Amino acid sequence: MSIDFRSDTVTRPTPGMQEAMMKAPVGDDVFGEDPSINTLQEMTADLFGMEAALFCPSGTMTNQIAIKCHTQPGDEVICDESSHIYQYEGGGIALNSGASVKLLYGDRGRINARQVEEAIQPDDVHRAHTRMVSLENTSNRGGGSCYTFSEIQAIQQVCMRHDLAFHLDGARLWNAIVARKEDPLHYGKVFDSISVCLSKSLGCPVGSLLLGTKDFIKKAKRYRKVFGGGMRQGGFMAAAGIYALEHHIERLKEDHANAKAIATAISSRSFVKMMLPVETNIIIFELDESLTAPQLVARLKEQDILGYAISPNRVRLVTHLDITPAMTEKTIQVFNQL
Ligand SMILES: *Cc1c(COP(=O)(O)O)cnc(C)c1O
Repeated sequence: MSIDFRSDTVTRPTPGMQEAMMKAPVGDDVFGEDPSINTLQEMTADLFGMEAALFCPSGTMTNQIAIKCHTQPGDEVICDESSHIYQYEGGGIALNSGASVKLLYGDRGRINARQVEEAIQPDDVHRAHTRMVSLENTSNRGGGSCYTFSEIQAIQQVCMRHDLAFHLDGARLWNAIVARKEDPLHYGKVFDSISVCLSKSLGCPVGSLLLGTKDFIKKAKRYRKVFGGGMRQGGFMAAAGIYALEHHIERLKEDHANAKAIATAISSRSFVKMMLPVETNIIIFELDESLTAPQLVARLKEQDILGYAISPNRVRLVTHLDITPAMTEKTIQVFNQL
């Protein structure tokens, strides 16, 4: 079997997770009658100290619903240039919400309070109406970089002063919380809405949750239906999520340790020009002129190791639940011999 570092989405459900899925009590969730989905929503809302949660098929959908709920057509969304909501959601901000985007150039995907304050449009007929700020933690293109909580609080202060909605794309928030030993309750206090994924770090086959106030989630549920995301007996998937919340959060430390060990081996190679600091489970490195990213990915593939060329000279490797210590060891050996 190949050692697959292309993404933390490639995991398959563990035997324990499969068993939990098969035993799940289910019902019609569009009627609000799926016990497993209801439990997962309550558990997650409680974990973050938020009023309510909504189970959705993907993180793209939870982000897009949040943007739809917070904005009107013509409003502007402030985010980092590398954000998933801008780069990888099919232009959904414009398509679904008719909103425009104010891009900021942050530090490895992380923007700061001063940048946000300066980006807010004046109250002027020529200008778009700045309406929301979206952060990504960890940042995918930033190589799994984490915000400091004090910076998040500083940005929240700016949002409060200017009456802006504050959203968090927390597809990999679990990684940040474990890496920085944070309390999820703190996140629930500062953001108006949070999106978390179950299908990345936590190893579920499908699913994301959107968190917010009761009123916000009521509105979100309407848009979930409009976007085609109302599911029926989705409880089989929610049961995987419940299992993952109970068993797969603390173990993220192992993914982070594996990533650091592999990163150390890679960075000692002469063809590696630069590597982003490895804070969580993502390794992004840049190659010198002797090797292109697709060439390196092809050479790794010969050894049954799969990576991803994210640009002509940058490669990304992501560790996850299905990467064992033995696979980590083999990968280190392969890099030592490349
Ligand atoms: C993966 C990801 C998402 C959501 O992706 P889906 O594949 O739609 O679940 C959102 N934000 C970030 C930062 C991601 O990495």
